[in-house]
Amino acid sequence: MVQLAYPRALLKISGEALAGTVGAGIDFRVIDRLTDELKQVSATGVQLGLVVGGGNIVRGATASDQGMDRVSADYMGMLATVINALALQDILEKKGLDTRVMSAIRMEELAEPYIRRRAVRHLEKGRIVIFAGGTGNPYFSTDTAAVLRALEVEARVILKATNVDGVYTADPKKDPSARFLAELTFQEALVNGYAVMDANAFGLCKENRLPIVVFNINQPGATARVLAGERVGTIVQ
Ligand code: UDP
Repeated sequence: MVQLAYPRALLKISGEALAGTVGAGIDFRVIDRLTDELKQVSATGVQLGLVVGGGNIVRGATASDQGMDRVSADYMGMLATVINALALQDILEKKGLDTRVMSAIRMEELAEPYIRRRAVRHLEKGRIVIFAGGTGNPYFSTDTAAVLRALEVEARVILKATNVDGVYTADPKKDPSARFLAELTFQEALVNGYAVMDANAFGLCKENRLPIVVFNINQPGATARVLAGERVGTIVQ
């Protein structure tokens, strides 16, 4: 077993990442690849929590721009995260991993209610805990939910899975002079306006000194390498 730099970690997977190239809904080829990756990660002995987004199905702000009540739209977004969580759980279990979905919105037929101590117990037993339903409150994001859960269960790091290699000084797709940044302090990220996470989530990390690693989930083996302490992606701390 490899030495772990972070014995307990929280991985944030955006809804967008699950949509693959289609851009919406769930691409099960992506889930297949991702769960293979998570199986590898789990074999290292790391205690792993997942927070999934819902932007591939409903985003509250977008639905409200189109005429929906914002609060209802946000609840729809939170329900979308549950749909994604169930998809991930199903495929992870098919691959032999032990998992629990814990929802911030009670729906006992399909998920356990989120109870902090119980979540910690699951993690200690080596179960992958998938935190669904965001924070359970409208006007928040799953980035904030990820940081909140990470702090609550005392994860040592938050891994932000994206489709880019990490943080750049500008958008590398638009600006050829964009520089990759391997390491940043919270202050540097804030001052330069690098969008690592939304402002609420970022503020919580900064205040509580919870390191964030932004990395490319499409790079095979990247998640396990980050957890082993290899320099992958950008670390903000
Ligand atoms: N959401 C919410 N409260 C939360 C988490 C999420 O209201 O604590 C809603 C919000 O409408 C958001 C949607 O759920 O747009 C999907 O989450 P998010 O946009 O964070 O997903 P991602 O961008 O990671 O796919």
